[in-house]
Amino acid sequence: MTYLTYGAAREALARGETSCEALVSSFLEKIEAENDRLNVFISVDAEGARAQARALDARRARGEDLPLAGMVVAVKDVICIRGQRVTCASRMLENFTSLYDATVIERLRAAGVLFIGKTNCDEFAMGSSNENSHFGPVRNPLDPDYVPGGSSGGSAAAVAAGMCHVALGSDTGGSIRQPAAFCGVMGLKPTYGRVSRYGLVAYASSFDCIGPFARDVDDLAAVLAVMAGQDPNDATSAPVPVPDYRAALDGGVAGLRIGLPKEYFGEGLDEGIRAAIEQQVARLETAGATVRDVSLPHTPYGIATYYILTTAEASSNLARYDGVRYGYRADEQAVRRAMKAEREALEAALRAAEEAGDDAAAAEARARLDAQESLLDRLYAQTRTEGFGSEVKRRIMLGTYVLSSGYYDAYYARAQRVRTLIRRDFERAFETVDVLLTPATPTPPFRLGEKLDDPLSMYLNDVYTVTANLAGIPGLVVPGGRHPEGFPVGVQLLGPHFEEARLLRAGAAVAHQATTA
Ligand code: GLN
Repeated sequence: MTYLTYGAAREALARGETSCEALVSSFLEKIEAENDRLNVFISVDAEGARAQARALDARRARGEDLPLAGMVVAVKDVICIRGQRVTCASRMLENFTSLYDATVIERLRAAGVLFIGKTNCDEFAMGSSNENSHFGPVRNPLDPDYVPGGSSGGSAAAVAAGMCHVALGSDTGGSIRQPAAFCGVMGLKPTYGRVSRYGLVAYASSFDCIGPFARDVDDLAAVLAVMAGQDPNDATSAPVPVPDYRAALDGGVAGLRIGLPKEYFGEGLDEGIRAAIEQQVARLETAGATVRDVSLPHTPYGIATYYILTTAEASSNLARYDGVRYGYRADEQAVRRAMKAEREALEAALRAAEEAGDDAAAAEARARLDAQESLLDRLYAQTRTEGFGSEVKRRIMLGTYVLSSGYYDAYYARAQRVRTLIRRDFERAFETVDVLLTPATPTPPFRLGEKLDDPLSMYLNDVYTVTANLAGIPGLVVPGGRHPEGFPVGVQLLGPHFEEARLLRAGAAVAHQATTA
């Protein structure tokens, strides 16, 4: 029997009804039964998880009580666990093994967490549908013809399918919140700097955040309390004390000032989602919250700003995958042979042109011979051509373009300034309200393949989530009602920097109402 929330499992452990080993086994059975169909995990560490569980049961038998003993966690495959592969769902890192634990892994392990496997995602966390994975798409457990969202689609699906208590994801522009909404689970993107990024493979370093997925706010609060806090290995982690997140949960919403940013309810919002959100808002008002309209006027620039800045950072971060230091390397002998054949063909052309007295053709052959790059340069190019998928390449090219001389001021520098304006919009709004409430996504989940040929429409799916990353503020998505077509609707709550406790408290109220409605 699986205790699907850690809260329930913890009580069962305390009553002696189950053991850590039994918890792990029941999740492994679920994975065994469903993973072929849903493609949630890239790797499963059955032996490791069982061994950890047995060790933990022995410690518990000796009377040791760890705060998260027996919590079973799945980890997005962009976060390092020592001795395990970290593929980033890319051919580039298909066979790369981590040499160390990410800080979050180290902290959770010390608190008694059992790691069951690494989850599928979009390649290097770039995507909104989990279709950009070298290991194939994840399917939505609620309906396998639909995408689970992305990029942390495997982590959201793992929680939704009952394959773990909690899963870790990363959120650069919505990659925790959007798949949480699509799979009907909860997902929290903490404040930038709240949780150490040490051991998270970088996509866009000034945006990336690690955060949890769970079935209830209690589990989110419990796991955040352990993950959060300053880390000497991440200079951007903040020296801000970590509050008791669980103590905050019961506060209710009486007196809470909720803002509805009008830019998040405009054109493009699905009517079924709008109706579900409006119902939630009405219920929160009945429960004692005060609701008012606010404006975040620079919201329309969010997507453009996000895709300029994150691709710029990505083009720099991903420069390290060159086949020399990390991961995949193109076949060196094949590259050598191809270059040699090219050279010989050019030399033959040159000779023929000289014999025919064709000066123009000879000059061209000479120029092309001179232009042939070094073996190393060709090996870099070939490695990156073969190792990266098309979306990653698109972003590296976009990012290189916006950073190139002559365009830098027009794109990158200007986007940095707009980022500041977006952050100020939020600061101003939080002078008059405690939290903002918005839809998590403009549409319900879409079918696999539906948006693959249209990157722009894929990017537009992130319209309500990227702004929190641009501003560095925390965002929580909880299921809040149902779409007429059947999928759950995600409600997003945004708060000021380091006010995760406030979001969790409001989220508890939304979730409570959604289940009692
Ligand atoms: N979907 C967004 C993107 O493709 C967000 C990704 C993320 O948060 N990692 O960039």
